[in-house]
Amino acid sequence: MTRIQNADLHCHSTVSDGTLAPEALAQRASANGVELWALTDHDEIGGQHRAAAAAKAYGMRYLTGTEISVTFIGHTVHIVGLGFDANDMTLQSGLRQTRGGREERAMEMSEGLAKVGIKGAYEGALKFVGNPELISRTHFARFLVESGVCRETNEVFRKYLTEGKPGFVPHRWASLKDAVSWITGAGGMAVIAHPARYKFTPNEEFALFTEFKALGGQGVEVVTGSHTVAEYAIYADTAREFGLAASRGSDFHSPEESHTELGTLPFLPNNLTPIWEVLATRIQ
Ligand code: AMP
Ligand code: MN
Ligand code: MN
Ligand code: MN
Repeated sequence: MTRIQNADLHCHSTVSDGTLAPEALAQRASANGVELWALTDHDEIGGQHRAAAAAKAYGMRYLTGTEISVTFIGHTVHIVGLGFDANDMTLQSGLRQTRGGREERAMEMSEGLAKVGIKGAYEGALKFVGNPELISRTHFARFLVESGVCRETNEVFRKYLTEGKPGFVPHRWASLKDAVSWITGAGGMAVIAHPARYKFTPNEEFALFTEFKALGGQGVEVVTGSHTVAEYAIYADTAREFGLAASRGSDFHSPEESHTELGTLPFLPNNLTPIWEVLATRIQ
């Protein structure tokens, strides 16, 4: 097999907070030349069978995927899982448990927004939800744009949905240890998603990578829609320093909202081990 370069191993469908169905994402990825694809819905693997079937229909190789919400030293961190057995019961129940608090959190978010005069946000957000177990801040952001409170979702996050803002509700997600063990226990590999997004201090970031590695984590996203070109180089160095394989993914959510299209990022730098080479036997 020729060496895969255009792998896109991070995106979201209507099964979490994306706006396209798994089949439409597969079509779009294929049209953009993606050779190896993974759908990585937040805390969900309900779209995996559809995504794998659609990948096959469009002639792409496929790796199972998910993006688990984790609380690490008081911050939310995302861990991507790739190449696991989607029928694994421990992984399924861990993800179900992680999704569990979302509805209550959403109602509290709505109360917070009501206090600053934005009424009916819970019901409004629900209109955008494709999976009743997965109401996310993104769905609130879409409602606030639709109702004219903000012009775009980014602005909603900045003004209403991030720490200290009226619609922000602190939430406790899975532990790093559990997330990594659910993924690896199901035969997959754990990958730190978009590390530059966390705005960690150097000490906090070192703690994350050290603990992740000690728990059996194997990869880090280097080229992602959430990183700048300068950050590709920084996390390429971090991957080498910690002996981690590198991943590449757009984090595509929606044609209207996402600035990075499926399959259009630069390829991984040459001197890294692509995670899909380590996962070769798990590729469908
Ligand atoms: P949640 O899991 O409900 O906390 O929502 C997290 C999701 O919100 C992320 O996966 C992104 O899709 C989205 N998000 C986070 N920050 C921003 C931002 N600044 N602009 C747009 N979307 C964002
Ligand atoms: Mn998202
Ligand atoms: Mn993420
Ligand atoms: Mn994501």
